[in-house]
Parts: sequence; structure tokens; C-alpha cells
Amino acid sequence: MANVIGKSATELRHLLEKKELRAVEIAEQHLRHLRAHESELDAFNTVTDALALRQAENIDRLVEANKPLPPLAGVPVALKDNMCVSGFPTTCSSRILENFIPPYHGAVSEKLLAAGALILGKTNMDEFAMGSSTENSAFKKTKNPWNTGTVPGGSSGGSAVSVASGSTAIAFGSDTGGSIRQPASFCGVAGMKPTYGLVSRYGLVAYASSLDQIGPFGKCVDDIALALSVIAGHDARDSTSYARELPDFVGESKLPVKGMRVGLIRELTGEGVEPEVNKAIEEATKTLRDQGVIVEEVSMPYLKHALPVYYLIATAEASSNLARFDGVRYGSRDADASDLLSMYLQTRHSGFGAEVKLRIMLGTYALSSGYYDAYYKKAQQVRRLIRNEFDEQFRNYDLLISPTSPSVAFEFGSKSEDPLTMYLSDIATIPANLAGIPGISINCGSGRYGLPVGLQILGPALGDAAVLRLARAFESATNFHNMRPGKFPPVSASA
Ligand code: GLN
Repeated sequence: MANVIGKSATELRHLLEKKELRAVEIAEQHLRHLRAHESELDAFNTVTDALALRQAENIDRLVEANKPLPPLAGVPVALKDNMCVSGFPTTCSSRILENFIPPYHGAVSEKLLAAGALILGKTNMDEFAMGSSTENSAFKKTKNPWNTGTVPGGSSGGSAVSVASGSTAIAFGSDTGGSIRQPASFCGVAGMKPTYGLVSRYGLVAYASSLDQIGPFGKCVDDIALALSVIAGHDARDSTSYARELPDFVGESKLPVKGMRVGLIRELTGEGVEPEVNKAIEEATKTLRDQGVIVEEVSMPYLKHALPVYYLIATAEASSNLARFDGVRYGSRDADASDLLSMYLQTRHSGFGAEVKLRIMLGTYALSSGYYDAYYKKAQQVRRLIRNEFDEQFRNYDLLISPTSPSVAFEFGSKSEDPLTMYLSDIATIPANLAGIPGISINCGSGRYGLPVGLQILGPALGDAAVLRLARAFESATNFHNMRPGKFPPVSASA
């Protein structure tokens, strides 16, 4: 039997259509691969074998009956563990939700199943998506397949690793301040945060509701475009969901890029960025110019306020969203408490980890009366200035580019002791969430220790197809998307 680990979604679907392979074989090979490497990578909280195999059997029946196949037929996928899949735990990598089993599908898992995807499991993450390294998981530390001494990025670290190691062709994450793009960059895969409102968040556990967005990880831009076209679209169950017709992401991503105008954001390159990262971005700029893209340096002075603005807004919204985990409505309950108040206090004390508590306290403080105007309101005003600055740039440029992260993947423990150093690693990704605009990270070279470097491409709101177009053009001119970590070879069928 042909080995299909590492094949793209498009390739897998093609093999299935030509009847060269059955969906059950695709599922089994990927599950075997996932399990063989899991002890070293720790990327999954739950493996959903039964669900994947049942779905694969359904797809094989369609193939046998020569029925038309849905767009992700037979494609193995993984979901970050903050998205509900009916009947399986959704833990957010938190003790407080360790035993929570949603009785319903979130919009994304519903759409994936309807599109024929094989859901292989739920991936590890920073607790409640708060973090940039997946070290804040209450359960385990996910390792970067390029170097298992370094973090995979976060908070969707498990999903990035699932794709980078070949366990699934596609995976999904959520991005509130960079949690798809930064781990994609650290793990050398593509990862996209779509325009705010493009993908329904029904069934996604909320972190910061004005910033959260779901998006895909893939090995190549074609898979990202395909996955996005499946999960995007209006959903009345999410009041922020965009209600108009959407572009053909797959078709438009193939349009030519010659003559496109792109701004390289000065404030996100140069000083404070690892020299190898700067160099890779410089090379990427040359590659784009060689394709007839006009790249000019632009300055966005308000971006220097993005970090404090983000950490005020995100923590304020989180403190409100996480109030529901009280041992009554959701979450495990502390059994020893003698009265209601101590039940609340003890449940939350033992259920939440240190970073989550820190953020709830910061957010509660920022929202408290007397401080609201000075912090939350002020942050919202500066957020508006940042959005305006993007609007202004997009009057002159089709797209903007920068490094996704100032560094390549860092060592375990190197930033976890000091929250501020960790927060600083989000500098390039959070502006897109504040502005609600789309962004992608694609592999564009190697930095320190040969670890992958990510190129970030940002577009105006609803300019997702243009973002994909430039990313795809870069990919067709280079070979970085085919670089894979060497240590995780496919496990042979007889193993
Ligand atoms: N690292 C950022 C944070 O900790 C972003 C997380 C995310 O996008 N979910 O808030």
C-alpha cells in the first residue's frame, strides 16, 4: 500500500477519487503515525479513532457508489481542544474542563464532517488559549518536531505539530493574538487567521470575543484555501458572523500577483528581531520583487502601542468570559467546599492554572469602576487608532508583510518565568487581531539551529483571497513549504 503520510489534502482526495486508496486506509495510516510519535511530541489531548474510522467508512461507501465526493473527503484533520466535537472531551487544556464532554458539535466540526474530513483528535494548547508556547497546558508540554528541546509556539501548538509531523494533513486552531500564525511559523507550516467574523465561533470556547477567530494550518497554501472555503460562511448562531457572499478562495488564490503593491512594516523588522529572521524576510522580499510585486517599506508608528492595548482588552474580555467556569454551570466542582462561596473559590482556585488566574485578575482590575476609563476605554481608543493606521496603509498597498515572530522557536523554560518576555513574542501578530484583518504565516527560511522562519502577510478586512494569492505565489517560487523536520518518518504499515 502506498504511504500517504505527508501528502496534502488535495493529493489525498485525488488518490481517493481515482480509487487508489480507501479512506479507511488513509485514517489507519495517519492514526498509526500519530500514535507512534505521540510519546515524543505530546500534541494530542484526545485521539478520536472511532469517529475517524466511522467517517472513513461513510466516505468509502460514497466512493464505491461512484457518488460525488465532498471537498475534504478522506482528509485527516485535528481540532484544537477548545472546539466542541460532540461526545468527546473539550478541555481547553485546563483542569477545570478536564471532564467536560459537549453534547453538540461546534460549527467547525459540523462543517468538517459534512465536508467528509476525518477528525483524528483534539490537540494540546495553552490553557484557555493564553500563551505563546503551549507550556501553559495543564496536561503536558507539546514538543516542536524540528527540535524537541524547543517549544512549538502557541497557543495552538498541538495543531501546528500535528501538521508539521505529518499526523494530519490539516489542523484547526484559534487566533486571538497570533495563536495560529506564531506556532505555524515555529513549526514550518502555513497557518491563517481569517478576517474577524468569517468563520463561525459557535462551539469555540471564548477567550477574548472581540479578537478570537478560527483558522486552518496546512502544509501548503492550496490546503489552507480549501480548508478556509469549507469552514467560512454565515452562521446565525454567532452574532459576529459575516452575512454576505464570500469569494472563491481557491480560485482567487491562483490569480497572478504581478503589479501587486506590498508594504514591508518597518516597525516589525530590524531592531529586536533575530538577525537570521531579518535576513530570511529580506530574501523573501527579493523573491516577491522577482515576481513583479512592488515592495516598499512603510512606517506604522501606532503599532508600538499594540501590545499594551491587546493585553488590556484580551484580559478584560477573558475575565468576563471565564466567569462561567464556576463549578455550577461548567467545570469540575470542588467537592470538599462547605458553602456556596467557598465552592466557587476553591473550584476556581484548583481548576485554573497560574497564567489564567493572572489574566483574570488583570482583566478584572482593568474593568473595575474607577479604572475602566483609564484602562479599558483608553485601550479601545488606541485600538481605533491602530485600525485607522491599517486603513490608511491599505489605501496605498494591497497587502502588508513582516516576520511572523521576532524569533524562531525558543527553548522550553526560556520565557515561561517572565510573562512580559513571553508577551513580547506576540508583537507582530496581535495588530491583525486588534484590526480584525486577515493574516497568514508561511515558511520562508531557516534561522538559529536551522529552525523555520515565518513570513507574515496581512490584508485588509475581507481581503483573505489576496493574502492567499501572495502566499501561493511565494510558495510556487520557493521550496520552503516542502521542508519537513527529519525526525518523524512515516511509520510503515507493518510496524
Ligand atoms: N499569545 C497571546 C496570548 O497569550 C495570543 C494567544 C492567542 O492568540 N490565543 O494572549
